[in-house]
Amino acid sequence: MSVLRVRNLSKAFGGVHAVEDVSFDVGEGEFLALIGPNGAGKSTCFNMINGQLAPDRGDIEFADRSIVGCKPRDIWRLGVGRTFQVAATFGSMTVAENVQMALVSHHNEIFRFGAAFAARHRERAVELLAQVGMADAAERACKELAYGDVKRVELAIALANEPRLLLMDEPTAGMAPRERNDLIGLVKRLVIERRISVLFTEHSMDVVFAYADRIIVLARGVVIADGNAEAIRDNAQVQQVYLGTGRAFTPAAGARP
Ligand code: ADP
Ligand code: MG
Repeated sequence: MSVLRVRNLSKAFGGVHAVEDVSFDVGEGEFLALIGPNGAGKSTCFNMINGQLAPDRGDIEFADRSIVGCKPRDIWRLGVGRTFQVAATFGSMTVAENVQMALVSHHNEIFRFGAAFAARHRERAVELLAQVGMADAAERACKELAYGDVKRVELAIALANEPRLLLMDEPTAGMAPRERNDLIGLVKRLVIERRISVLFTEHSMDVVFAYADRIIVLARGVVIADGNAEAIRDNAQVQQVYLGTGRAFTPAAGARP
């Protein structure tokens, strides 16, 4: 069963066909990678799915209803979560407060600082932090955290909304290989445990091939391949597209960086 159905999605900027006739499904509980060289149209796809950008043509169905024309906030409310490419946590607040604030918003409550806020959704916040391995940092200010840890907090914030589908556009941007592997491995475990679906982009082919259930390859706005790691690895057109981008596309089978 599909959670998300994208059909003939198209978007041009001036003369540039950023996304052209793109169709794909995201299955229930699927960990799906959307890859492609810079400028392939990945972010444009994400921004249309989350409602930030209006498509020129095509349809996007989430949980069997069209979400084209819906506002980002309404799409978020329906259960499409996302993490941000640029860290979006509030630096001066503590790690726990950031997650509590997300829970307040999820429950449609009005946010006010003060004694009442300190306790609100506290337990649930710490529980979510535990799931991303950050419970020990609950009392620390977000601005003190290492970059990789901020990303984990962002993930807890996204989970606070109990998404059915999580969109992650380059969640590991700026991370070292080891950290990339750890974060994507963590998300994959959450996908399995919570049965959510994730659509993500990732530059490291090693990480993509190690964890993705399925891989869609975009090049110049067009889907050129859609299949499992083996099929994508052996696809001549995909290899061609990656030649000359300076990015390795020959990971060892089953490699973990
Ligand atoms: P990716 O995320 O795969 O790197 P993008 O979706 O960001 O690719 O970009 C796809 C193409 O659309 C690129 O040629 C890019 O320059 C162009 N593009 C993206 N956003 C805009 C915009 N807001 N205005 C003009 N051109 C854009
Ligand atoms: Mg992008």
